Amino acid sequence: MKVNTAEIVISAVGPKQYPEGNLPEIALAGRSNVGKSSFINKMIHRKNLARTSSKPGKTQTLNFYILNESFYFVDVPGYGFAKVSKTEREAWGKMIEQYLVERDQLKAVVQLVDLRHAPSKEDVLMYDWLKYHELPVIVVATKSDKIPKGKWDKHKKVVKETLNMDKSDKIVLFSSETGHGKDEAWGILNSYLSK
Ligand code: GDP
Repeated sequence: MKVNTAEIVISAVGPKQYPEGNLPEIALAGRSNVGKSSFINKMIHRKNLARTSSKPGKTQTLNFYILNESFYFVDVPGYGFAKVSKTEREAWGKMIEQYLVERDQLKAVVQLVDLRHAPSKEDVLMYDWLKYHELPVIVVATKSDKIPKGKWDKHKKVVKETLNMDKSDKIVLFSSETGHGKDEAWGILNSYLSK
């Protein structure tokens, strides 16, 4: 996929602000610091459209990026942060959950995990929740450059088994440093975007 145009359309705090129209959307979710902004920037060849290293708890918004004027990446705030109050966390949860469950334009969710470690309890909960709601998930295992190639298969297996991944869901090893996995990820995303 050659991304010619990429723009942030809205940082939405509620459904009324979601873009109108029927363009397909791909949501991206993961724990803070997993490499989500770096993934987005690498996929769309931008240095800094998605903010990197944003402070956990700061971005309580759904960020809609329109790409090639034909589809959206929807950046879901990192889960598993501790710095917001319980009330804020609940409000956050509700908006995100509602978006993920009810949004017709949503075609699939990219869930990012760190290839170096077994997925956390929160990663597992998130994956289970997405599957409970019958959402297609693409697992992107980030920071593959930090693991020697000879150990990739072993780490990939740990991720798949810890998440107890559905056979129908794909996993992609990714590095925003080297660009590894980018074409494979686009291949999978395209198949959902054209459904
Ligand atoms: P986010 O909080 O999930 O958006 O994470 P960021 O994209 O801000 O990345 C968090 C940190 O991990 C930053 O210091 C990035 O430079 C680093 N990082 C992200 N992706 C990779 C990667 O593929 N390889 C390496 N080596 N570092 C990465």
